[in-house]
Amino acid sequence: MKIDIIGAGICGLTTAIALKEKGFDVQVFEQAKEIKPVGAGIIIANNAMQVFEKFGLKNIIAKNGNPISCVKISKPNLDEISKINLEYFEHKFGVGNIAISRGVLQQILSDRLGSESIILDHKLNRVIKSTDGFQLDFENGGQQKSNILLAADGLNSIIRKNLFQINSLRKTNQLCWRGITPYQLPLKLRNELNEAWGKGDRFGFVQISKSEVYWFAVKSFVNKRDELSVNKIDEYFGNYHPIIKELISLTPKEKIHTDELIDLKPIKNWSSGNVCLIGDAAHATTPNMGQGACQAIEDAYVLAECLGKYSPEKAFRNFQKIRFQKVNQVVKTSWALGKVAHFENPLAVNLRNRIFRLTPESVNRKKLDKIFNLDIN
Ligand SMILES: Cc1cc2nc3c(=O)[nH]c(=O)nc-3n(C[C@H](O)[C@H](O)[C@H](O)COP(=O)(O)OP(=O)(O)OC[C@H]3O[C@@H](n4cnc5c(N)ncnc54)[C@H](O)[C@@H]3O)c2cc1C
Repeated sequence: MKIDIIGAGICGLTTAIALKEKGFDVQVFEQAKEIKPVGAGIIIANNAMQVFEKFGLKNIIAKNGNPISCVKISKPNLDEISKINLEYFEHKFGVGNIAISRGVLQQILSDRLGSESIILDHKLNRVIKSTDGFQLDFENGGQQKSNILLAADGLNSIIRKNLFQINSLRKTNQLCWRGITPYQLPLKLRNELNEAWGKGDRFGFVQISKSEVYWFAVKSFVNKRDELSVNKIDEYFGNYHPIIKELISLTPKEKIHTDELIDLKPIKNWSSGNVCLIGDAAHATTPNMGQGACQAIEDAYVLAECLGKYSPEKAFRNFQKIRFQKVNQVVKTSWALGKVAHFENPLAVNLRNRIFRLTPESVNRKKLDKIFNLDIN
């Protein structure tokens, strides 16, 4: 059975690997001329690492990244508000949480898949449903027939727009800057993900290799993203801890990536006949729980399991049945967390911090346990 995937992001590549493992013939079409992700980092959480372990990729990812055994939320001066210990999950599931450069991760995935399965410089312009499948029209003039089609083309999926007529994106009115800086954090912070919450802004940082730190800074805006400028980022975070100010000042402005945080309002149907949406194309979430790519990686595994058992149409329906509830919970919780993290009223900020401080570890552990448990094993 030949399967065509549009998009060689984390979801498309991992899905192609999972399907190849099952013996399917897979082709991935990617718009970019080369696989070159933004210079940022990513946390591959426990659930996604369990999937990578199944594909024999756990060790190479762990070797090229940095283990994270604690997530801390703090005030801008890094005074702790709350802390989640991840060691419990490392023992329970036998894999850790790894912070890694996106570029390194995508290289690992594309090396594993093999360049012969990735067709670069193929931007899908239009997809039309025909009597015997789908017609793919590429920007470079190329055309292709497809019988089984997977849309891993991200938040702005052209397949979702063309075949499902859905583009219900939700703006958070938050702008996110991301950077990687040559830096070594003090020993006590080296295996932690730290997120400092201010008033209407927050700053996260994590060691992703021996010599590099990935950081992200998020700030609310009122009307338009143009209200905020990367050139003023030092000013916006001027009252944060000296390490944070140093990380910002050490990163050349032209190497900082800017994105508006947007998600996709949960949609009812991820598939129609022999076409299925996966990853961000199906359920893009805000990054507040660090689960967008992790959920896409889980999709890859579950979808391949379903396609290994059933006809495409039935497999796609089963895939959604298995994944829907968990994914939507992540989207919903992440959206709410993004709002809470950006409270501006000092009273609300104090109350929020108190609630977070007083939340027992057992409550946080129960919530994470649900996320880290794979839907099927
Ligand atoms: C600021 C920020 C921080 C994040 N941090 C984390 C984190 O720590 N952990 C985590 O798990 N998730 C994180 N995420 C979410 C994560 O980045 C996404 O969920 C993940 O990248 C989705 O992967 P994807 O492959 O589905 O989509 P994408 O990464 O968007 O990939 C889509 C691919 O399809 C290609 N494409 C698009 N359109 C076409 C077309 N028409 N024709 C051909 N190719 C096309 C694109 O070029 C791209 O290669 C974060 C997101 C943001 C914005």
